Amino acid sequence: MTIHIVTGPPAAGKSTYIRAHAKPGDIRIDLDHIANALAGTDVDNHEHAAHILTVAKAARQAAIDAAMKQDCAVWLIHTKPTPKQLDDYEAQGAVIHEIDPGKDVVMKRCKAERPKGSLIAAAKWYDNKPKGKKSTHERGYGHAHQQQRRKLLAQLKDGTPCPECGKPMFKTATKNFDNAALEADHGPGSALKYAQDKQATKATRLLHRTCNRSGGAWDRPRKSDPSREDAGQGFVWA
Ligand SMILES: [Zn+2]
Repeated sequence: MTIHIVTGPPAAGKSTYIRAHAKPGDIRIDLDHIANALAGTDVDNHEHAAHILTVAKAARQAAIDAAMKQDCAVWLIHTKPTPKQLDDYEAQGAVIHEIDPGKDVVMKRCKAERPKGSLIAAAKWYDNKPKGKKSTHERGYGHAHQQQRRKLLAQLKDGTPCPECGKPMFKTATKNFDNAALEADHGPGSALKYAQDKQATKATRLLHRTCNRSGGAWDRPRKSDPSREDAGQGFVWA
């Protein structure tokens, strides 16, 4: 399964991007579309009543939870994930697509095509845009890593003991003791090699997310971000 997270300000062209890139049979989760389906409003409508939005969000979460268990590509629009959410997405092997045609274009489109609130939302998106946040590629969680993780996951026999804690590992996140998807790591002893050339070093094994992030045998340099400590939370979606 591949999860594609499509981010970007209002009117950036996120739905259009998914239309252009998703294949038949892929799952598309778009809050706007869900809200319009619930309310019977036009597909291009972007203005939703609060009670519709509340129900649409619940439906979206249910769709995400169910989609995670399917073996298919999932396209999810998430306008502005927090850095923590981005990390979680990437830890799950998600591919992040940021759609940003530039502030001028977005502001013009918002004025012409979107409800009033979208101008403010777009301005906020640009104000809070994480500056200099390293891409997944630079952090070594790039495409090759994600592909390798998927390969390892496909080869995994459910119930195989985790190399760190010995508890069984499962392909389905919710079956793992920490309720989180398995992560791929580079194995003990490869930290130096990894630091020297993280793009070229392949992940060699799977382990629980909690075990991967709690130090263990592999001395990966850790971030001092305390929000990373709540491992076991699984996939937290806005
Ligand atoms: Zn473990």
